Amino acid sequence: MTSETIKVVIAGARGRMGIEAVKLAEETGHFELVAALDHAHEGKKLSDVIHTTSDAPIYTNIDVCLSETAPDVLIDLTTPEIGKLHTKKALEHGVRPVVGTTGFSEADLKELQQLTEEKGIGCIIAPNFAVGAVLMMKFAKMAANYFPDVEIIELHHDKKLDAPSGTGLKTAEMIAEVRESKKQGHPEEKELIEGARGADYDGIRLHSVRLPGMIAHQEVLFGMDGQTLTIRHDSYNRASFMSGVKLSVEQVMHIDQLVYGLENIID
Ligand code: NAP
Repeated sequence: MTSETIKVVIAGARGRMGIEAVKLAEETGHFELVAALDHAHEGKKLSDVIHTTSDAPIYTNIDVCLSETAPDVLIDLTTPEIGKLHTKKALEHGVRPVVGTTGFSEADLKELQQLTEEKGIGCIIAPNFAVGAVLMMKFAKMAANYFPDVEIIELHHDKKLDAPSGTGLKTAEMIAEVRESKKQGHPEEKELIEGARGADYDGIRLHSVRLPGMIAHQEVLFGMDGQTLTIRHDSYNRASFMSGVKLSVEQVMHIDQLVYGLENIID
């Protein structure tokens, strides 16, 4: 299944995640990096702009890039607006998107799902490619069957654009599937400073911390009379996401629908 060569384009290849994805593509025998998509450096080679041996050409126009290089998969690691546009364009070109970019709304996902169905090809959107983070979400869902009072604290570097994180939101969604909707805390609690109790997802409180020095971390805290349970995951570098990217690129070749979340492609 993994012996076929998969032609890949990376959007955002100069970025922190993109650089790791370029390394992954170079190190994976059955991946071939055919181009990079950028908003600058048209006509240069990837090795002109980042530390890599790849001479893949850089394109700034997605239509030209996908038509000329005919990739199997577009890996998108950019920004929410651009990521959404790239995903749509890729599907329109019959190219399978693997999207790590976070910050898509429910409406965005619905629209992309519809387009994926129309085109009948695979698309994977994963707000967190770290396998440990996916397990954290699964364990949190399991625990929520017994602990309905839960708060999520997600902690990221201060360059992150969206809050709450895709992982934080996804965790809340998974917990809400098994937890009866309820308001937490004192029924008459008042915020003396707006936002003190965090965001509210179906009564689950979500808190976003942004600090330099951090990468991607999350704690899910459960409480009941006399006991608490904390489930925590830490990504210490961006290489932690690459096993999930590799798996997604391989899997997206064999599906014909949109899959949201790495948890849906690992057992
Ligand atoms: P980053 O370092 O800012 O990289 C983003 C890259 O996209 C930059 O090189 C940027 O170029 C480029 N870019 C901007 N506009 C573009 C366009 N129109 N076409 C092509 N490239 C464009 O960010 P990052 O930390 O790598 O994160 C990228 C995305 O991945 C974010 O959404 C982040 O939340 C997400 N992420 C996902 C996971 C996961 O596991 N799914 C893990 C970590 C991060 P300039 O710098 O020149 O603007």
